[in-house]
Amino acid sequence: MAHDTSSSASPSFTAPSTLLIIGSGVFGLSTAYALTRRPEWQSTQITVLDRAGGSAPSFPENPVFPARDASSIDSSRIIRADYADPAYAALASAAQYAWRQPGPDSIGGEGRYTETGFVLVADDEPPRVRNARGLEVKSGMGFARDAYANALAHARQAGRGDDGDWVQLLDNRAAIAKATTTGAELGDWGYLNRGSGWANAERAMAWLYERVEGTGRVKFVRGTVDKLEIDAGQRKVVGAKLMNGQSMRAELVVVAAGAWTPSLVDLRGQAVATGQVLGYMDITPEEQARLGQAPVLMNLTSGTFLIPPSNNVLKVGLHGYGYQNPKKVTSCLTVPKPTSISAFNDQEQFFPEISVSQPLTHLDDPTLWMPASGERALRKGLRAMVPWPSVADRPFTANRVCWYTDTPTGDFLVAYHPYWSGLFLATGGSGHGFKFLPVLGEHIADSIMGKCTPILKDKWAWKEVTDVERSIVTEDGSRGGQAGLILQTELRKNGPRI
Ligand SMILES: Cc1cc2nc3c(=O)[nH]c(=O)nc-3n(C[C@H](O)[C@H](O)[C@H](O)COP(=O)(O)OP(=O)(O)OC[C@H]3O[C@@H](n4cnc5c(N)ncnc54)[C@H](O)[C@@H]3O)c2cc1C
Repeated sequence: MAHDTSSSASPSFTAPSTLLIIGSGVFGLSTAYALTRRPEWQSTQITVLDRAGGSAPSFPENPVFPARDASSIDSSRIIRADYADPAYAALASAAQYAWRQPGPDSIGGEGRYTETGFVLVADDEPPRVRNARGLEVKSGMGFARDAYANALAHARQAGRGDDGDWVQLLDNRAAIAKATTTGAELGDWGYLNRGSGWANAERAMAWLYERVEGTGRVKFVRGTVDKLEIDAGQRKVVGAKLMNGQSMRAELVVVAAGAWTPSLVDLRGQAVATGQVLGYMDITPEEQARLGQAPVLMNLTSGTFLIPPSNNVLKVGLHGYGYQNPKKVTSCLTVPKPTSISAFNDQEQFFPEISVSQPLTHLDDPTLWMPASGERALRKGLRAMVPWPSVADRPFTANRVCWYTDTPTGDFLVAYHPYWSGLFLATGGSGHGFKFLPVLGEHIADSIMGKCTPILKDKWAWKEVTDVERSIVTEDGSRGGQAGLILQTELRKNGPRI
């Protein structure tokens, strides 16, 4: 978790006396940890608030931890520096250094990280294609080719490049089938990066939680924010009102509520919650032994991926455009038009009724089963990745609709709110934020203190949006499936389970 915090903050920066972080996932918890280690924050009272917790199997006694439906909590997450964008490739390489360190004091130690390698492929398609609006965007093949160039450059930097041993080009289906170890001709072109792998997400979060708690600097509070509290005349966020009526005041509020963030702050055009399907399947000890040795597999054209199983459970996922779940809410703090402000003490006008895609999870509805369209895509992906009759047709024993906080470009949103002072946003994970857990908090802390690197500052900035009603589609080349699907419409089509 090394990071240079020696350079000074922006001259105008003074740490607040009280800080409230809403959400204890990757973004919130890593931020809390980073701030506890900075001298400027020594006198700040830091509170981390989460809506659920206490049920994490690895932490039965812990009352405040990301909820079971938070995207930071799962059996596995891919840890890769395989990015088309050099800035994320570099950031992920720095994170990977931390993941690889062994021992109890390392986030990746004691089996929390496993370096199995990663086979990243795409189907034969041009590197750039036209999207539904006729604009040229990167395709899966474009992403794969750029990621290969970045992976190779990083391997060379580490002195491990040129013999193809570390990053191995797979330029035909037979080479791909061999690298997968399952015999799957998973795509037409790609590569194997032996320096990538996967982490047990929940155990890594538990490790970090212990570190944060161990500082004795952070107060963890369990509660659900209903809406932010404002001083409208000062254009300032002053705290949060909880569902139980309690008010929590803070000089600075960091909203890191993952896919629930757009329900608290109007992020139309900036970020949207999209539901992504995961299928879990019980496998035999023999299958576990074979697949446990396989690399992580991903086809960027279809978006399907497979993480090596653990504890005889295999997981298949779809990194797709996802499902939106629009609902009318009146909890969302908006930017008022100057002409529409009637009186500063009339708070309701700042929380008008708007439509927001809201997470719907197995905690809201224990009977929730993914849409058949998602299950079909997972099944197709599974058959392509593990072409063994015994596994390919076995029913999924469990499923999950897990929620991304998607931005149009896949860049995170880590920035002060442009209108409301006292409000900082740390979100927009776009389905790829987990791997940065060892380094992300330091960069968020830098951003809060006004000393983020210009490249990240630009990428993670609040963007000018001309059409807030236009639906967000993440077009970084890494997504498969169909854009624009509505969860409730798709759920209504669910027939008998496949
Ligand atoms: C299916 C899936 C697969 C993924 N795969 C990968 C991968 O392989 N590799 C990778 O790097 N990344 C992956 N990601 C992305 C990564 O998991 C996320 O980017 C990251 O976990 C997001 O963290 P977060 O802190 O923003 O959100 P979360 O982890 O969701 O945390 C938000 C927290 O806020 C709390 N909260 C929400 N609303 C309120 C409220 N009103 N009041 C109080 N608390 C509230 C929630 O309870 C939750 O604990 C995946 C994500 C998903 C969903």
